[in-house]
Amino acid sequence: SVEIAGLGKRFGAATVLHPTDLHIEDGEFVVIVGPSGCGKSTLLRLVSGLEQPSQGRLSIGGRDVTDAAPADRGVAMVFQSYALYPHLTVAENIAFPLKVARVPRAERDRRVAAVADALDLTELLARRPRALSGGQRQRVSIGRAIVRDPKVLLLDEPLSNLDTGLRVRMRHEFARLHQRLGATMIYVTHDQLEAMTLANRIVVMNAGRVEQVGAPLDLYARPASLAVAAAIGSPA
Ligand code: ATP
Ligand code: MG
Repeated sequence: SVEIAGLGKRFGAATVLHPTDLHIEDGEFVVIVGPSGCGKSTLLRLVSGLEQPSQGRLSIGGRDVTDAAPADRGVAMVFQSYALYPHLTVAENIAFPLKVARVPRAERDRRVAAVADALDLTELLARRPRALSGGQRQRVSIGRAIVRDPKVLLLDEPLSNLDTGLRVRMRHEFARLHQRLGATMIYVTHDQLEAMTLANRIVVMNAGRVEQVGAPLDLYARPASLAVAAAIGSPA
């Protein structure tokens, strides 16, 4: 499980995340929604360790990782911008976290082949990112994120740079990926349909706080505030 206990973040005088509690079960698919600037990415970055909290604690799988390095948390993150290494091939991009972790060559090759197979990237392994479409790049960034078998996969608006048709297809891909990996997924999006169809639970944030947490249909039917109704798309 992921235990977020009183986790908060200030930048100077500005509080971007008020102390937040959130319990996420193993294997849950949690979607975070809320208006721009409400602190969604900040929360993900705190969980991933790319940002240090101003207060509070974080445990993953029963271990306190508040002070652990990002690579030692059993989490991986997929970014909106993909953040691929342009000078590396697809295979080298996917293998990169394994190389950093000093996984031996043969094991690396085996894992890259398995991930490429799962994401339909086998034909593209020798290409560089500039020779890929947006959807292919995104699949490579997902491959790089899952190659070390993370317990928790963090996704920050992973589909927002794709066209509508591809977004629909990738939405189904994420549902399949979740089933196949069995990993805990924490997924940030502005897309109400993505939230409603992918989430076991939706977390609605507003102005640096969690406004409401619940199953998609419960939030849709019983939004606790106008902000929640707006984020979920409930009828007014
Ligand atoms: P969006 O939907 O636009 O991606 P978000 O919910 O992900 O928004 P965050 O990126 O978490 O929002 O930012 C929350 C607030 O924290 C914003 O007001 C942002 O300007 C502020 N913020 C983020 N990073 C920093 C930083 N390094 N220094 C100061 N303020 C920051
Ligand atoms: Mg963001």
